[in-house]
Amino acid sequence: MRSDIEIAREAQKLPIGQIAARLGLAETDILPYGHDKAKITHDCIRRLGDRPQGKLVLVTAINPTPAGEGKTTTTVGLGDALNRIGKRATICIREASLGPNFGTKGGAAGGGMAQIVPMEDMNLHFTGDFHAITSAHNLLAAMVDNHIYWGNTLRIDPRRITWRRVMDMNDRVLRQMVVALGGPPNGYPRETGFDITVASEVMAILCLASDLDDLRERLGRIVIGHTIERQPITARDIGADGAMTVLLKDAMQPNLVQTMENNPALVHGGPFGNIAHGCNSAIATRTALSLSDYVVTEAGFGADLGAEKFLDIKCRLAGLKPDAVVLVATVRALKMNGGVARADLGAENVAALQAGCANLGRHIENLRGYGLPVVVAINHFTTDTQAETEALRDYCASHGVQAALCRHWSEGGAGAEGLARAVVAQAEGESDFAPLYPDDMPLRDKIETVCKRIYRAAEVEFLPHVADRLAEWQAAGHGSMPVCMAKTQYSFSADPAALGAPTGFTIPVREVRLAAGAGFVVAICGDIMTMPGLPREPAALRIGLDADGLVQGLF
Ligand code: ADP
Ligand code: MG
Repeated sequence: MRSDIEIAREAQKLPIGQIAARLGLAETDILPYGHDKAKITHDCIRRLGDRPQGKLVLVTAINPTPAGEGKTTTTVGLGDALNRIGKRATICIREASLGPNFGTKGGAAGGGMAQIVPMEDMNLHFTGDFHAITSAHNLLAAMVDNHIYWGNTLRIDPRRITWRRVMDMNDRVLRQMVVALGGPPNGYPRETGFDITVASEVMAILCLASDLDDLRERLGRIVIGHTIERQPITARDIGADGAMTVLLKDAMQPNLVQTMENNPALVHGGPFGNIAHGCNSAIATRTALSLSDYVVTEAGFGADLGAEKFLDIKCRLAGLKPDAVVLVATVRALKMNGGVARADLGAENVAALQAGCANLGRHIENLRGYGLPVVVAINHFTTDTQAETEALRDYCASHGVQAALCRHWSEGGAGAEGLARAVVAQAEGESDFAPLYPDDMPLRDKIETVCKRIYRAAEVEFLPHVADRLAEWQAAGHGSMPVCMAKTQYSFSADPAALGAPTGFTIPVREVRLAAGAGFVVAICGDIMTMPGLPREPAALRIGLDADGLVQGLF
């Protein structure tokens, strides 16, 4: 079987100007980065401002398992299929974090015949956006320590600085450290550490800001720590917001690339799916909606985390109204949810599949609760048997939801035309979309609402310091923000081993963080890793260039 990178290399790419022309963009509307990538300019986006908006389709999935669901692959396949049936469709997905590619294999550009190209670029340095985010984040960090060095007129308490540094590499030794050792010329020693760039609040801000003015406003609101008197200090107090905006000016412009079938894709931004909202940039989604009949976009993890954040954070803050949701399910993942071990997934097991469908059913109910039509995409694997796919179709039929068997991974867009037609049929009318909770609900109640209505928790446990912080922020005027849940993606509960549709569990809220610039409050319900490490045998050991200068071993 050919690898994703080998398939992607055979794509007959068109010059990026031709892809832009298909969107109705002139040569001066784009800034080409080589032959096959371009940014859409700020001027062009400003001009598009009041254009009519196309239909917005979210691709999400059941709870992920190591068996793989294929959200990105289905997003790309559906985009290609919509174009095949005569709709002008654009795909919007996230940029990939570079570091993890050298840990465990697995790209972010789709797979098989449903991929975005150039996939190596998109997974590595791409157009430098993550470099810009890293620089802006670290400029603020440097300015904080510099302020203390030169006398600390703001009276920042060095023990209460929460703004860490970032870089785009999996490097566990940087998690906790003491900086400024070596005497007075190097500053005041204090404890801090590094996170991976995608965990930076600057990343979340870039993905939610509507334009450069809004970007600067949000950067200014970042809270970096507290004074000795326990008052919050912002990036604006430090004076860093203007210079950070300069560093991010080009990165704010969405990146245009293409699918293997030469359809347009905007790949822009990539916030973490746990401590951030896990969606591509609002500016890219809005731009695509101005230029197309249909926009297909993806949210990270399963629907309990990814779709919930897309709907309650991104759509709320960016004023977007989705028209339909595609829920990706695979026979393999459902069998795992039904209790089959990974090693036994090859054997037919209709009973386990039916048991695992409880997971699918709960996601369907949740999504319908938002007033959105749902289509189930059965992402077909060659190992699936007919009895299994029939049982899955029967389950969907008995729940009154349309299901489409898709073969875009092996056939490209042609394999997802049935899905595309089902989506068009569902998205035709006006959706009754409403977020889960109103803005004015207290922060604590918002967290409880997500835990009880989406996860179906019996209890939510707030540790005392968590309840205090929430009350403090509520009083300080942050109460209208949405909440960003950080929980395991593997289960509806906080226990990654509880697959299927668990009930009777408690969600412990251990810690809360204020992301005042991004505009949400993070509720941490488990161990969240913000700086990954490399595995014993990192993928980097097998990555290199071949005799023709082509990348080997990446995906
Ligand atoms: P997600 O976005 O849900 O994380 P991806 O779409 O990135 O998942 O897919 C993960 C991996 O699974 C990719 O390497 C892709 O090639 C593979 N994959 C997806 N769908 C299929 C399929 N139908 N058959 C075989 N492999 C698939
Ligand atoms: Mg994905």
